[in-house]
Amino acid sequence: MKTTRTLIGTLHSLVGQKVTVSGWVDSKRDHGKVTFIDLRDRSGKIQCIGFKMMGELTTESVVQLTGLVKERPGSMALADVVNGNVELDVQEYLVLNKASELPIIVADDGRDESEEVRLRYRYLDLRRARMQKSMRLRSDYYRALRNSLYAQDFTEVETPMLTKSTKEGSRDFLVPSRFQPGKFYALPQSPQQYKQLLMTAGVENYFQFARCIRDEDLRADRGFEFTQLDLEMSFVDRESVMSTVEQIVKASVDAVGGKLKDSTFPVYNYQEALEKFGADKFDLRTAEDQKQGVLAFAWVINFPFFKKVDPKDVAEVRDGKSGWTFTHNPFSAPLAEHEEWLLKGERVGEILTTQYDLVCNGYEVGGGSIRAHRPEQLEATFKVMGYSEAEIQDSVGHMLEAFKVGTPPHGGIALGLDRLIMLLSNETSIKETVAFPMSSTGRTAVMNAPNLVTAEQLKELSLAIKI
Ligand code: ASP
Repeated sequence: MKTTRTLIGTLHSLVGQKVTVSGWVDSKRDHGKVTFIDLRDRSGKIQCIGFKMMGELTTESVVQLTGLVKERPGSMALADVVNGNVELDVQEYLVLNKASELPIIVADDGRDESEEVRLRYRYLDLRRARMQKSMRLRSDYYRALRNSLYAQDFTEVETPMLTKSTKEGSRDFLVPSRFQPGKFYALPQSPQQYKQLLMTAGVENYFQFARCIRDEDLRADRGFEFTQLDLEMSFVDRESVMSTVEQIVKASVDAVGGKLKDSTFPVYNYQEALEKFGADKFDLRTAEDQKQGVLAFAWVINFPFFKKVDPKDVAEVRDGKSGWTFTHNPFSAPLAEHEEWLLKGERVGEILTTQYDLVCNGYEVGGGSIRAHRPEQLEATFKVMGYSEAEIQDSVGHMLEAFKVGTPPHGGIALGLDRLIMLLSNETSIKETVAFPMSSTGRTAVMNAPNLVTAEQLKELSLAIKI
């Protein structure tokens, strides 16, 4: 007969009952005839006592124990610990997986451990209480976001991972096509174009937890992929998107117990922010706010649409053939009063975009805009960047076509979830919020990619390596 598993976190209310529990050996104290272990599962821990048994169990082994839940003697009861009032008198046990000597001590918080060891053994690192909490928080935050998006009548839609280059200002990751030798897919830097096409398709309110992949220069805190809450809405103006997003962010931060500084997020002009804070991302918290883990959100608007290409930035040089490139997003619409300048390609440096950035505690945590939804607007942007007719057709011809068959005015945003969760959990690195982050040298956790492939695989892809 199959034994029913009882979750450890419920044992404090099951005194006198015989139960079977399964989990990890958190710690062991061997007193000769009597062996004490703390057993841990996702719901909690319990002290288990074995008489003339369990002596051979090793820390972090996975075991199944059957025994009687007993009240701990009054003097031994731990008042503020879950299950502090009970213990398990073990009658029989089964080792489901024996743990050999561990390269990581799971019981500590891992803050002193090197990144290399933590990522190589991430499956052990993640067993740490701190990391379990972080994964739970991420999941709770996703649920809260989903709930508030559904409440506002959004539809969740997935878009392709193998796609065509879309410009977000970084290099693309390319994937060779086996069926069409010499041709490549690009992994999405964002779902920008697909979400706009969903507006043409009549979805009206779209969202997705989108994985974005950008070949950027690595920094200690940045890998090649990250997750955004990507959303787009039809028949909206800048203020209505900002207000919807603000409601969603507030409701979900609240749902996971986060503290907000302002009940209405302040709005700054880009120029004003530069003058006041010297940057377009800034920290509005006081010393007291910082101590209390408060989140201080603010909006920044009225950014310049274009900037001069930085000759040292490969992606900018590629995108901005005329010497001008976009500051945020080439698919944005300009402010209505600057539309004429864009269409005529005049006063390029003065054109302001409808872009809005969301900042929090000194970080940019989101950005979006009202989009070009008429073909001449998008064409004009690419002309300013020096694209010929043929180049425009090649890179965004499909968007221009879609803009000729009934595309509603629309706008949206993407919120960087890794960073928001980092702030919510009071961590200082986004790696603490991602289950399997990349190392600072661009290697994947545990599985150690990138790696070499066989000559046969290269041949199938019609590729040759020249180094
Ligand atoms: N696609 C933009 C990005 O990934 C966000 C947006 O404008 O919605 O940064």
